[in-house]
Amino acid sequence: MQPRDLSDHVAYEAGRGIEEVARELGRDPSEFIKLASNENPHGPSPAAAVAIREAASSVSSYPKSAHTDLSAAIADRWDVDPSQVWLANGGDGAIDYLSRAMLEPDDDVLVPSPGFAYYGMSARFHHGDVREYELERAEDFAQTPETVLSAYDDDRIVYLTSPHNPSGSTVDLADVERIAEETGDDSLVVVDEAYGEFADVDSAVALLEGRDGFEARDDVAVLRTFSKAYGLAGLRLGYAIVPEEWADAYARVNTPFAASELACRAGLAAIDDDEHVERTLETARTSREYMREHLDAHVWPSEGNFVLVAVGDATAVAEETRERGVIVRDCSSFGLPGCIRVTCGTEAETDRAVETINAVLEDVAPESREVSEA
Ligand SMILES: *Cc1c(COP(=O)(O)O)cnc(C)c1O
Repeated sequence: MQPRDLSDHVAYEAGRGIEEVARELGRDPSEFIKLASNENPHGPSPAAAVAIREAASSVSSYPKSAHTDLSAAIADRWDVDPSQVWLANGGDGAIDYLSRAMLEPDDDVLVPSPGFAYYGMSARFHHGDVREYELERAEDFAQTPETVLSAYDDDRIVYLTSPHNPSGSTVDLADVERIAEETGDDSLVVVDEAYGEFADVDSAVALLEGRDGFEARDDVAVLRTFSKAYGLAGLRLGYAIVPEEWADAYARVNTPFAASELACRAGLAAIDDDEHVERTLETARTSREYMREHLDAHVWPSEGNFVLVAVGDATAVAEETRERGVIVRDCSSFGLPGCIRVTCGTEAETDRAVETINAVLEDVAPESREVSEA
């Protein structure tokens, strides 16, 4: 027998880990630093690590009260009703819940290109179709109302990413409002704020709650994750915040116990660990500025914990920096064969990354870089 027709489906290309790369190259893992997956260079919130150890002996029970407590804590943080918090197995899990709640077979979703691969993957899993709006490199990958609306054709879900992965650009709330306003009543605008903590822009939660001068709307949802600023990528914890009008759909679409006991306990500890988040944001700000100033290539301004760098032949450059111990993300899989994405590391990691990338650009790609800059 065979699974259903999966010919339109593509496997997610995750950034490869240090162990994997070291094994493949026959080298010692300690020779490498990984700046390829936008992970937190300071590790998890220390309070979360303690909570995980303490919760270890209670994992024989289903996570009932921890789930309730975390939804309440997140609701408190955003000043929304707990029913509006759709906890999930990572931000990716929350995307799946929105797909489940919204998509009928053959509904379209509209996604940015370049952009985050999982929007389209999730839509296909849920029997939807994927359409793209093209972000222009010459316009610094801006997700303007014009760009989105000219591609829009009654799509059921429209994804915006702010800050955008992989470019680091952001979308103003007034633009999100205009996009929501000018798309149909049955089109949901999802604002993916996976990197929201790192950015100097307000959350789109203001749009669904009718705050800061915006009128309340029921056609915008916001996506958030504990993977980036809180350093809990390995735990898989994220959520959507949805308008109160249809928040009760969660009970009918969520996988029972959507987030694990360990994830919920860690989330509860991390959400109050302001010191760890502050330190993380400070590191990202310093690192992205340093890379913009010191990399000998075009670096886009970024509000995330990463920067996009124009290097010419991204595959050759990423391979060579890896050879020299610095693992970065080749953006060919994002549809940007001329760019790499470098995660903001600690000061020492950032210094090493800049030095290595500059040396590699000098050695392997001077001619292809000229092409990319033209
Ligand atoms: C990392 C990321 C997510 C969510 O990741 P999870 O680890 O599943 O929480 C969502 N959107 C974008 C753009 C991301 O980069």
